[in-house]
Amino acid sequence: MIFMKDIIIAIDGYSSCGKSTFAKAIAEKLGYTFIDTGAMYRAVTLYALRHQLIRADGSVDEKGLTAALPSISIRLLRSAQSGGNSVFLNGEDVSEEIRLAGVSDSVSRVSELAPVREHLVAQQRAMGQRRAVVMDGRDIGTVVFPHAELKIFMTASPEVRAQRRYRELRAKGVETSLQEVESNIRQRDAIDENRAVSPLRKANDAVLLDNSCMSVEEQMAWVMKLITSTQS
Ligand code: C5P
Repeated sequence: MIFMKDIIIAIDGYSSCGKSTFAKAIAEKLGYTFIDTGAMYRAVTLYALRHQLIRADGSVDEKGLTAALPSISIRLLRSAQSGGNSVFLNGEDVSEEIRLAGVSDSVSRVSELAPVREHLVAQQRAMGQRRAVVMDGRDIGTVVFPHAELKIFMTASPEVRAQRRYRELRAKGVETSLQEVESNIRQRDAIDENRAVSPLRKANDAVLLDNSCMSVEEQMAWVMKLITSTQS
């Protein structure tokens, strides 16, 4: 076996460009821990929805949610079935529920709030303390781990992303339309890029990956070369 030093791999980018699939595949290949930070923002959003902390106009009760943060416990466990993350909100498995449209529609509003971000970023840093992690999100290379040894910024055309997400949701039996999915993606991109706190940005030292026309195998071959280059 080749000796590899344990590194942090930060994967950021736009919604639905296959970050989690890619991050999960890398983690599996290297025997690293995969952390889907989007799932953490989604779990907080689900809590907010269940506790009426999101108003009818879509705005978030920031004061109420901030006060509730200490009573929101989120745990990510490796799912033996998918190799991905099972997500637990105060002990309840919410892995499926956090993917539903209600959560997708509100998550970017919740993620704009500084107290929510501070709370989750602290947990993410603790999870990466022992290194050997592949973490995917929007601000991993810029804020959570600015010194990560390898940073990748992923993108793909909005049409390709919408198609992929639509197929994924339909395969899970979720009733939706391509138009609905594309509009949610565009809306989330706009909020994520324009928010005041930790906006979605490519870190200066991140490597850009446009995977519009790439298979997962091609992406893996590409990234393994990069990983090898971090070892010298
Ligand atoms: O990765 P996913 O699409 O599931 O993320 C859902 C939402 O969570 C994003 O649209 C973004 O608003 C928010 N997010 C974030 N920072 C992260 C991960 C996700 O703001 N590190």
